[in-house]
Amino acid sequence: MALIRKRRLTDQQKRRIEKQHKSRQEELDTSNDLEGLVVQHYGRQLEVQALTIPNPHPEKPIVATGEPEPFWKPIELGSVWRCHTRTNLELLVTGDKVKWQADPNTGLGIITAIHPRTSLLTRPDRYHKVKPVAANVSLIVIVFAVLPEPAPTLIDRYLVACNDADIPALLVLNKTDLLKDDDHLLKLVQEYRNLGYEVMLTQSDGDLTELKQRLENETVAFVGQSGVGKSSLINSIVPEALQKTNIISENSALGQHTTTSTRLIKIGENSALIDSPGIREFGLWHLDLEKIDAGFPEISDVLGHCQYRNCTHTHEKKCALKQAVEENKILARRLTSYLRLIDEITEAQQKS
Ligand code: GDP
Ligand code: ZN
Repeated sequence: MALIRKRRLTDQQKRRIEKQHKSRQEELDTSNDLEGLVVQHYGRQLEVQALTIPNPHPEKPIVATGEPEPFWKPIELGSVWRCHTRTNLELLVTGDKVKWQADPNTGLGIITAIHPRTSLLTRPDRYHKVKPVAANVSLIVIVFAVLPEPAPTLIDRYLVACNDADIPALLVLNKTDLLKDDDHLLKLVQEYRNLGYEVMLTQSDGDLTELKQRLENETVAFVGQSGVGKSSLINSIVPEALQKTNIISENSALGQHTTTSTRLIKIGENSALIDSPGIREFGLWHLDLEKIDAGFPEISDVLGHCQYRNCTHTHEKKCALKQAVEENKILARRLTSYLRLIDEITEAQQKS
């Protein structure tokens, strides 16, 4: 086994780093910092929305008659500013609440501090490093539909990911106009309700009052398979979503990147939506084996009670999980789904 040698800093190096850090801190007077919200990020490029304004507001420079008007962007509530961050800050993402300063002379800002996050969505990058994607999401809306028919493990997979991110999930069965009487999907809905999950039924162009009320005071992300109606639902709930994105991307001159950037859009007064093509695929990202158990609470309750410690819960005669299925304590479908996810991840691990 290779020894991993930790790099130790000498005391002298430590003192030098601390001194550099301190001098950077001292360069900026942070006593009048504004409050802000990161509404868009692409890599290290950030857009911050002003949640407070300076008092007094900086004064516009007076120019002599005949001189050209200098650039001047007033700091207004809700205005959006391209910002960079102080070098000592961690990587910031959409949804982060920050302290920042705006410079009306350049139209640019600098982020000086980050407020503690209530949640963080992360995804592995190409190099298997964990990359932050969105902060402070408080509710994940898992959309599935009558058509395309949901794959059996998919919803469970999303629930595992939500559980791992420690963010509550709301299941939404969309396209209910296509439901048939006695549809087996209604049974599925009831099964999830029995497991304690919140489920709503919607139709994108129908009455969405109940869903809208549920989203109040939340920062939400819509996830789910392509074609289930996420865009349609989002457009019904936040009609200005499309328009707003366009304005932001125009300002930021990030045109060619807008498809992969993550943006935050206000829904009414107290709610927000965080969205990007990447976030919509949340849950399909790589999952670790140990996260699966925690995502199936009714199964993890029984795990460890099988006859063999390495029970595969398939061919064994005395298996606590299979017994629980027979006693109707665990749904057969959920056990299949659980085993399938474990298989999938074990296979993926063997390949890499
Ligand atoms: P997304 O890929 O999840 O964003 O799905 P879209 O919003 O693009 O919708 C996929 C297709 O389903 C489009 O053709 C929509 O018109 C259609 N669709 C969306 N919502 C509903 C619905 O409630 N009922 C029906 N019948 N079709 C819908
Ligand atoms: Zn077993």
